[in-house]
This record gives sequence, structure tokens and C-alpha cells, in this order.
Amino acid sequence: MNLAATKLAPAARWGHAVFNPQRVALIGASSKSGKLGNLVMHNLVNGFRGELYPIHPSETEILGHRAYPTLRDVAEPMDLALVAVPTGAVLDAIKDCAEAGARSAVILSGGFAEVGEDGRALQDQVSATARAGGVRLIGPNCFGVINAHAGLNASIGIGLPTPGAVSLFTQSGAYGMAAFSRSKAEGIGFAKVIAPGNKADLDETEIVTYLGNDPDTRVVAMLLESIGDGAAFVDAVSAVSALKPVIVLKTGRNKTAQRAAASHTAALADDYRITAAALRQAGVRLVEDGLTLLDLAAALACQPPLRGERVAIVTNSGGTGVELTDLLEDEGLTVPQLSPALQTKIRPSLPAHGSAANPIDVTTDWPRFAQMYGDAVSALMASDEVDAVVPVLLQRSALMPEIAARIVAEHDGARAAGNAKPIHVCWVGPQGSEENRQRLLAAGIPCHPWTARTADVLAKSRARPVHAAPSVGSTLPKPAAADADGWLDPETTFRLLTAAGVTFAPWRIASGASVVDAAAEVGFPCVVKAIRPDLVHKSEAGAVTVGITDGAQARATVCDFETRLGPGPVMVQRQLPTGLELVIGAQRDPRFGPAMLFGLGGIWIEALDDVAVRIAPFTEQEAASMFDDLRGRALLDGVRGRPPVDRTALARLLAALSQWIARAPWLSELDLNPIIAIGSSLSAVDARLKVAQAANVGLER
Ligand code: ADP
Ligand code: MG
Repeated sequence: MNLAATKLAPAARWGHAVFNPQRVALIGASSKSGKLGNLVMHNLVNGFRGELYPIHPSETEILGHRAYPTLRDVAEPMDLALVAVPTGAVLDAIKDCAEAGARSAVILSGGFAEVGEDGRALQDQVSATARAGGVRLIGPNCFGVINAHAGLNASIGIGLPTPGAVSLFTQSGAYGMAAFSRSKAEGIGFAKVIAPGNKADLDETEIVTYLGNDPDTRVVAMLLESIGDGAAFVDAVSAVSALKPVIVLKTGRNKTAQRAAASHTAALADDYRITAAALRQAGVRLVEDGLTLLDLAAALACQPPLRGERVAIVTNSGGTGVELTDLLEDEGLTVPQLSPALQTKIRPSLPAHGSAANPIDVTTDWPRFAQMYGDAVSALMASDEVDAVVPVLLQRSALMPEIAARIVAEHDGARAAGNAKPIHVCWVGPQGSEENRQRLLAAGIPCHPWTARTADVLAKSRARPVHAAPSVGSTLPKPAAADADGWLDPETTFRLLTAAGVTFAPWRIASGASVVDAAAEVGFPCVVKAIRPDLVHKSEAGAVTVGITDGAQARATVCDFETRLGPGPVMVQRQLPTGLELVIGAQRDPRFGPAMLFGLGGIWIEALDDVAVRIAPFTEQEAASMFDDLRGRALLDGVRGRPPVDRTALARLLAALSQWIARAPWLSELDLNPIIAIGSSLSAVDARLKVAQAANVGLER
């Protein structure tokens, strides 16, 4: 048993009660059509094979099932009680559940925390009652739950999805319904569907752990509006993603909650970036829309993840092949030219004017399509030159059943031989070709509509390496803050960060006439910067003077600062030659812990908005992956005659700082901007560090 499996160990009793109940009660069942309690009753009757107990104050029989006035009137304890009564009657219903020994309840009714303070208070009462009575809750205000394998539709959905391998956790009920329609139209099979609603009790953390343990669930798809306990969720999802793909759509990406930006890091490391970093490092695949969530889940349920970046395309339209190549390359994948040996293998079945280079163009010689597609797919599946095969089926090729049959045969043959190379079809079929598409889907071969969707889903199916967080040493002592907000003075900041592994341009603190000696010590040309309480953006305040070439100029600069900014010390620094200005920042996130940011810095940082975010601590490998996140990463390779930045040294610095930050739970914000990179040298010239005030020391991971 591996570590992840151990973490998942205690099988949730509530999960069995909710998804595989023997006895289900529907509180609020009704025989009147149009009522919620009637719709849910129909859903239950259509498929559920256990005992069903409709609860209604006066009716004695509903849809052929004996009805009871209250749950207390039923002798047997319920595994699952569904609550579909008006808001005001929910608390009593839950009291009945507690009294009658129900093991779980799903509250479909709304009118709770989602409507305001009064609703929240009522919800708190409901959850307290459930907790006291040992009843685990889903909801309130939710779509319900489905176990397609058990025929259980305990939801307000419009039908039972086809059984399959995808489990969907959705904070949007509409996607619960979409599970049904996608399963019918696209053949996507579902295991469990669960909508947690307001999450008064069971939340994403417990539910994802259950799905991780569930053998019917081979892919977990989650639409998350909110994450309660970030650290707990990250731990749970890390364990699950080590066993099966976890795909997350986190909605609410816009920067509505932009913090007052006292540091560049606070301005750029917004909530979504931090959440995304935490989830990616936990092995989650992130998507940005619901259709992709379901399509990627479906693809990963039937095809192995893409391991590598080399894609082979087989098409009967050269133009589409080129278009798909462009789109795949936009996603960071490649369509490499095949070796002469492999081309020689493929060419004999192609017409003279076809291309075996990749994209493989079988041209319009349609009577021989099946053989050409089939032979090419076969050769590509067997070769180690590509990591995925994408047949493009367009118009005439989509209409020919023998092509679909050959692709299915090649696919099945490869799988039988233990070959785990994914096949995804790019489908541009005309009316009348649906039967062939269904045939491919039934064989477990995804058919993505058109080129862009193919490139998108294939790229997102890529397995991303997960680097476990390194262990770090003991907690570092908290330095005394310099001001009321917690900012340290520059000298303390520079000393601390030097101990953490940062190299600064040579510097001295001086005041008055001592600046002359200080300047001589750091060397010319030098930079003189004023140090004053509350002086945040120094250059904007005219508090940075560069290009000082002798002691007299240094002295004059100090006098100028004293006139304009009042008396106070200065920092004298050696002036570095022009280099690439980088930023490293950190800030403690209340949900996920210390978030670190790396990007292209200097004065354009906010405008460029080109940063990578990770949760600390992380390894050098993880740090190196941050470079690929930057749009401007080519700058690291050296442009316009500049030497390339030493990526190894930079990754080492990022990792070292991340591990230092993980040992400094008192650190609330850090800005190193800029770090000037000149070839292999990385020197910081400006740093700000804020310690958390006693009351709000951030959480430690
Ligand atoms: P602030 O960010 O508070 O305005 P900085 O100390 O970062 O002040 O200085 C502003 C800019 O001046 C830096 O982004 C950098 O371009 C330049 N600069 C500052 N110190 C040095 C130095 N020692 N060598 C070279 N350039 C420097
Ligand atoms: Mg600065």
C-alpha cells in the first residue's frame, strides 16, 4: 500500500449510506406533478432498487409506495433521507432524522446561507442538530446525489446518466444535469454525481477523499466555487491525484478582491493564482470552463494521459493538418517530422503525392482511406517517436464505417499489447456520420469536435510531474518589526535575506558625512537611497540617485535628500551594470500558506503582469518549472547580446528562499524587486519584508 492509499484509508461510512443506501426516505414526497417532492420521487422510482419510504403528512401512498406521516413512524432506520420540504420545515425534518437514526441526509431545499444572515443562522441550527444526532449532511440548497452504477438518482436532475468512470463534484446544479445530457450525447459514463450545495457539513475535502477511495470512480471532475479549508483540501487532493486524475474548474477567477497593494507581490499574487498554484502542485489538472471539465474527464476515463509532447497527425486534408499543428504548438506540444525509417514504413500505403512526414497526409484517394489511416495509425502506435496519435476524420473519412473500424481495431490491438499511447480523434464529421462517431466513442476513443478542441483537450490530458514538497528545518526566530504595520528596516531585511541565501549588491548604511567613506567602500559608480519611515516606492519619491561617481556627489545627494525628505540615514550600494530585472516575492495566504511569486520585475512589473506562483516550500525542479509559466521566458535566454540567465542558479535561489520562507511563519510579505541578473550573477538591490502582527500570524503548512 503506498502513502497516498494509507492517507485515504478509513472508508467513509457516510459515503456508503449516501451512495449505496438500502433504505431511502423522501421527506416531502408528493403525488402532485410539478412539485419538487414529486419530481424527486419519480427519479427515485426510476432505478433505485432498495426500499423507498415517501414521507407526507396526509397521503398514504405515493407512486405505488406506502407513505408515512413522519420519519419517526418508520420502524427501520434510514441510510439516506432526502429532504425536499419548504425552508421553514427543514429543521424539524432533520430533528426527525436524528431521532429516527438516519445515517445521512441530503437537503435539496434552499433558503439558507445563500440568502443572507437569517438563512445562515438557520443553517447553523440545522447542521448542529444533524451533528448532535450523528446524521451526516449534504447541502442544503443542492442538486442532490447520483450513483449511476446503483441506479440511484437522489437528485432534481432530469435523468440517470449512463454508468461509467467519471465522478462529478459540482457546486453548480446545472452541471449535475449536464452530466445526464452529456452522457446521452457524448457517451460519457458517470459513477457518482454529487452537489454539496452550501456545504453545511460534508465538504469538498471529505467528498474528494471518498471519491479517491471509490473503485467505480476512475476520474474525479470538480467544479468548485469555494474552498473551505485550503490546506486540508490540498492534502486530500494530493493523495487522490496520486491514484487517479483529478480535474478542477475553479470559478470566480476575476480579481474582484484585489488587495490594497503595498507590495508588488500582493498586487500580482491574486487569489486565483494562489489557488491554482496550490491545486497544480497537488497534482490537479486545472481547466477554465465546464465543457472542458467534462470532456477532459471523459477523455482521461478512456485514454491514458499524454506522457510527452510529440503528437502525430493522420489526415486526409493537408490544410487541417497544418491548422491542427499550429494549435498543438500553441499549447506547447510538437508535431515532429518522423524519422526516415518510420516514413519508409508508412509511405508504401500512401499515394505518390501523399506525405509521410507528419502530419501524415493520405490525400483524397478515398477508396483506400481505411487502409491508409489504419496502416499509419498502426505504425505510429508502434513507434517511440511520438507520444500520441490523432487521426483527423473529416467529411468523407468520417462517413466511412471501415475507417472507424480500422482505428478501433488498431486501438484495441495496441491496448491488448500493453501499449499506453493515447489516441484522440479530431472529428469534423458531416450529418450522417454520427453512427461512426458513436462506434469510436463506444470503443473508448474520444472524438473532439474540430481542431481547437482537440488541441486543447489533448494538451490538458498531459501528465504533469508532481514534486513533493521538501521537508524544511525548524522555525526561525521572529525579528522585531520596525514600524506599526510590521515592515522591517532595510538593514534588518538585507541581513535576514542574506542569511536566507540572497546575494545583494555591496551595500552600507550611512548618514551625513559618513556617506563619503561608505561610497568608497562599496565602490563607484554607486547608488544612494534615502531610508525614511513609510517611504515605500523610493524612486517615485526621488529617493534613489544612481550614477554617483565620487564622494562629493554622494555627500551632495545626502544633503539633497535631507532638504526634500527631512533628516535620516541612507543606503549606499554599488551600482550594477544593466541586466535583466527579476522579482521574487512571497506572501502568506490564509488558506494555502506561503505563496511565492517569480517574474519579470523592475518598474514594469505590474504592467507586464508576467509572473509564476507556487506554494512554498518547493524543490529546485518545481522552481525550474516556474520559468515555463512566463510569457517573457525568452528573456531569460539572453536577448540583444545579453548573456543568458543562469537558470540553475535561479532555480536554486527560488527553492532556497521557498524553504526559508516555510520556516518563517511570521513572514507575511516579501518583495525582492529587482534582482538584477547578469549572466550567472544574481544580485538583489531592493527588498522589503513585513512580519505578521501577533494577532494574525499566518497558518503554517
Ligand atoms: P524602489 O523600488 O523603492 O523605487 P529600488 O531600490 O528598487 O527602489 O530602485 C529603483 C530602480 O533603480 C531599480 O528597479 C533599479 O532599476 C535601479 N537600481 C536601484 N539600485 C540599483 C543598483 N544598486 N544598481 C543598479 N540599479 C539600481
Ligand atoms: Mg524596488
